[in-house]
Amino acid sequence: MRPFPNLLVVLAAASCAAPANQHATSSAWAFQITLEDEAHELVIRAALPPGPTIALRAAPATMPFLSAVQLTTGSAPPEWLLAHDGAFTVGASTKPRALQWRFDARAAAQQVDDADLAAWRGRGFLGSLSAFLLHPTDSSPDVLFTLQVQAANGLSFACAGQHDGATWHGRLEDLPRLPACAFGAIAIRTLSLANPRFEVVELAPRPDARAAALDTWALDAFAATTRYFGTFPVDHLLLLIVPGQGHQIRGGSARGLGGARILVDVPLRLRAEQFANDWVLFHEMIHLGLPSLPPAQHWLEEGSATYLEPLLQARAGRVTEPAVWAAMLAEFAQGIAAPGAGGIDDDDSWGRTYYGGAIFCLLADVEIRSRTHNRYSLQDALKAVVAGGGNITRLGTIEDVIAVGDQATGTTVLAELYERMRTSGEPRELESLWMRLGVRRHGDGVLFDEGAPLAAVRRALVLGRQ
Ligand SMILES: [Zn+2]
Repeated sequence: MRPFPNLLVVLAAASCAAPANQHATSSAWAFQITLEDEAHELVIRAALPPGPTIALRAAPATMPFLSAVQLTTGSAPPEWLLAHDGAFTVGASTKPRALQWRFDARAAAQQVDDADLAAWRGRGFLGSLSAFLLHPTDSSPDVLFTLQVQAANGLSFACAGQHDGATWHGRLEDLPRLPACAFGAIAIRTLSLANPRFEVVELAPRPDARAAALDTWALDAFAATTRYFGTFPVDHLLLLIVPGQGHQIRGGSARGLGGARILVDVPLRLRAEQFANDWVLFHEMIHLGLPSLPPAQHWLEEGSATYLEPLLQARAGRVTEPAVWAAMLAEFAQGIAAPGAGGIDDDDSWGRTYYGGAIFCLLADVEIRSRTHNRYSLQDALKAVVAGGGNITRLGTIEDVIAVGDQATGTTVLAELYERMRTSGEPRELESLWMRLGVRRHGDGVLFDEGAPLAAVRRALVLGRQ
């Protein structure tokens, strides 16, 4: 288990997906992208509806890589389009307005080198639509856009949003929120077509046999996540695979703003049996099932993924139940509160963020099961959050999560536990918990005590038996 300290910041989010019956309105913006020349440069056209004067920007770091911005329609005087204060200002008009510009994708990627905005990995560009689509910095939630892409032979385009073929649909207000995209000589495979749509994008396509092993790994995590939450938490997931170094999957990240995407470094030489040992993708997919929380509750995002990942792997038959307990006994002590430490909301150390959060989830699971005689568990609470529309593409609060979760189990376990861990440095030790559950270390493994007071809870906890 083992999340790296610098792994994954889950950012806040909002859906970029427009309901399918709303995207054909006259007020929609229409972008067209032409991909050619190995995708090193984009030619972009935009049709704006009639309206007042408007200032347009791309992300500040990539603005220098936009060039030849010009009006292409209308009888407007030259001052219609002026670069002002770092933005391009388009004058008011009662007629549709059309613009065109170019984006030097390769140069921007080399200069910025940020996978959330503009980077070059393998054979393509990886980043955000806001790196190159000029857009207003704020717009009303009902203004929509369409994005059509024409790609030369051998080039492809993917974006974390809803699409029909080569046309994407989104909300204009989501463009500043870094909706993910990738394009170039990349491979895109749709593993699930609808409800949810699940697309895998390889920035450096691998041979067929290794691609098949990668797809099996992706679908295993997808199925385990769906089973745990009762449904897959988001409508559309873009899984971006960048070619990592070495012989091991080392890290990943999950984002929800403007559409859900997971990015994982997967070495090109990875073989099928090495995918079987991976924990990263399971961890990232669990992040999809919570709303994006404020920074003070980042521990619940990381803690739930750290706690649940081995459970989901065990339920998928990838690790054994004793191995899950052995890892908990070896690793969870990293999350106990140090002497003098305050509440968990005020402690952003790596140990308490990942393992303090995991301890919260373990204690909650044990207590819900104990009070309800294994009738309910943490799983019921988290299922209810997802069923109520909570997922990484939405902003949320811990109070919302707790209220929905406690109602689902008919208890007040989450509220009580949060109150204790928020206001004081708890817990100080875990040995008494292991003893009550009836699990203790034995060499590299564990021994179970069936006479322990919470043995029935322990027997049900990992594999999810009721
Ligand atoms: Zn994480």
